[in-house]
Amino acid sequence: MKNIKPLITSPHMGNTYIAVKAFLETVGCLYVPCPPTSRRTIELGARYSPEFACFPFKVTLGNMIEALEKGANVILMAAGRKGLCRLAYYHIVQEKILKNLGFEFEMVGLGNNLRDVLFRKIELWSGKRSTLPGLIKATAITFRKLKLIRKIENLTRNLRPYQVERGEVEKISRKALALTEEAKTFSQLKTVEREIKRLFTSIPIMKKREVLKVVVVGEFFCCLEPAVSFQIEKILGEMGVLVTNNMSSYRLAKGFLFPDLQKWWINRFIVKKYLRYSGGGEERRTLGEIEIYARKGYDGVCILSPFLCLPENTAKTILPSLSKKFKIPVLSFSLDENFSEVNMLTRVESFVDMLRRKKNVSGN
Ligand code: SF4
Repeated sequence: MKNIKPLITSPHMGNTYIAVKAFLETVGCLYVPCPPTSRRTIELGARYSPEFACFPFKVTLGNMIEALEKGANVILMAAGRKGLCRLAYYHIVQEKILKNLGFEFEMVGLGNNLRDVLFRKIELWSGKRSTLPGLIKATAITFRKLKLIRKIENLTRNLRPYQVERGEVEKISRKALALTEEAKTFSQLKTVEREIKRLFTSIPIMKKREVLKVVVVGEFFCCLEPAVSFQIEKILGEMGVLVTNNMSSYRLAKGFLFPDLQKWWINRFIVKKYLRYSGGGEERRTLGEIEIYARKGYDGVCILSPFLCLPENTAKTILPSLSKKFKIPVLSFSLDENFSEVNMLTRVESFVDMLRRKKNVSGN
């Protein structure tokens, strides 16, 4: 009888799927990405989720339904490590919901079980022995891709406000990501890296344009998934705002293997005076980065958090005093399935207008 390999998928979180795909395909598994997150994805997720679940739970559930409809039968879902955040329980509840809907599949929550996944599950899924050199090679390719993705995302943010023709940076960014996805070997990735540099330097820019500087902080899923943040970075960039966003899938993946020294430093030396204990999410990074970027002379802060996210809502109570202390305007969004793009656009436009008047910068 023909041995059919399972079709593995994972919910979207920005461009992370490129790296997950690279890892699984390098070790011999089959991977299918979920269809891009759309209004349908969000509606599907919201329809079958408990009303009070956090927004990322609903969106990732929508992703899973769409991938299962495409034939996926194994779902990899980040479960984090033991902690206070509800993320650790997402996959357990999502599995129950999806099985009640009649889907047949295997759910694997990725947390403290990495060893089991790498050495047992992958052997089952790929149909061949997992060897240490094979896993090291796959991990190295994955990290190389994650680094390239971070580079592309940063170049996109840095060039958007200076582009002569609207949409040009987006076009190049998509092309660069497609090249990164296609590359299979280290030498191909080296060539892709050179090509990315060439592509971005070929974009015509207005070097002398006066731009505003805004940092985007908040819950990691909202900071990484443009469909959830309603493309806030693109909207800001096209309005002439240079956006900084320190969250990246590279940073998250690295934090899984090594201690995140930047986070430790922020918690130890900056945030302790505002919030002594962790609420389990990114709330301390949010507060710490506001102080860091205010001191660097940034013009404003945008905070993205899911509606009902307890850790981020805790941080929000401290925001008014922080904003006053550092004289930095803060625009905060509570995102959920009822949030609309028009709402985002109107508020961002007024915020940018206010920042321009404050700094006396024209919009040209
Ligand atoms: S950080 Fe907030 S939104 Fe994210 S999983 Fe935890 S509680 Fe939910």
